[in-house]
Amino acid sequence: MTDLADSRRNFVIGAGVAVAAAGAASSVSAQEPKMPGQPTTPAAAAYPKPPFAPQKQEWPGLASKMNPRPDHGETSYKGSGRLAGKRALITGGDSGIGRAAAIAYAREGADVAINYLPAEEPDAREVIALIKAEGRKAVAIPGDLRDEAFCNKLVECAARELGGLDILVNNAARQQTRPAIGDISSADFEATMKTNVYAPFWLTRAAVARMAAGAVIVNTSSEQAGDPSEDLVDYAMTRAAMLNFTKSMAKQLAPRGIRVNAVTPGPFWTPLQVSGGATQEKLQKFGSQAPLGRPGQPAEIAGLYVAAADPGLSFSTGQIFGATGGGGQPG
Ligand code: NAD
Ligand code: MG
Repeated sequence: MTDLADSRRNFVIGAGVAVAAAGAASSVSAQEPKMPGQPTTPAAAAYPKPPFAPQKQEWPGLASKMNPRPDHGETSYKGSGRLAGKRALITGGDSGIGRAAAIAYAREGADVAINYLPAEEPDAREVIALIKAEGRKAVAIPGDLRDEAFCNKLVECAARELGGLDILVNNAARQQTRPAIGDISSADFEATMKTNVYAPFWLTRAAVARMAAGAVIVNTSSEQAGDPSEDLVDYAMTRAAMLNFTKSMAKQLAPRGIRVNAVTPGPFWTPLQVSGGATQEKLQKFGSQAPLGRPGQPAEIAGLYVAAADPGLSFSTGQIFGATGGGGQPG
């Protein structure tokens, strides 16, 4: 094992440990120049590549049980006040891309509320501890986004606890691989649509009623929006819908000074993929189809969520920010 691989291993550690291990992280980062808003891991080249060990978790899965553990920027993301004083609600903020955004937002000076499913409490606890470690307010609001009444309550509760709402990140999603359309039951289809399309609609409607000029909505789409896989039919439809929703709402809300942007990930190493999102066969070679030959780690996309919400990028609305590892970017 090389020194680089050793340091890489030290970076991908439990978040709970990460807080305690801040000293260890700074000793490594002392050797590496830090760029604000960038992960300061030794080198992206040291991130895990396929083949991956076979693994399967019950949906919705936990980041803490993945092998290797994803890097959400726990020990590496360095902020520079880009979201100072902002109040953000992030759905799916417990793990994966949403966790990376939550860590980055807190380090950029925002107070953060996260939503997740009750089964994800262990992952959520780690994120709450990381936000608090930055001296920011952290609010945990578990609940099921497939319920309209809960979505309304979520926005109301987040705004009350944070003292207002400046940023909504629609990030939670359901992805379950199904080989043929006949394998997608109506219950499956409804669960995917409710989580991935209805909930962002309900949350956005409730949020804009409370938002003032300067507020931002950040939607998560996917490269699947433009180049859907044959076994992700229902999921891919929803990611395309998010892109379209981003563009219409950007136009509608521009006169109010509220911006709406989207982020499009390519393959990312998150619980979504190991809890039914990918077949075992695809999982073992996950990321190999991307030109970079590996999946992205959540830490590598956090900066785009920051950019999408950054008040300094005030002319950017209706924009699509991508991190696909070299694959095609949906228009
Ligand atoms: P993830 O599993 O870490 O996050 C998804 C989150 O969705 C879960 O943590 C869970 O809290 C939430 N969720 C799902 N159903 C819910 C429900 N009914 N109620 C409340 N919360 C619910 O996986 P991730 O990959 O970080 O996913 C985040 C976003 O990234 C999703 O929008 C996904 O479409 C998008 N994305 C991921 C990839 C990838 O390869 N991982 C690629 C493209 C796009
Ligand atoms: Mg999760």
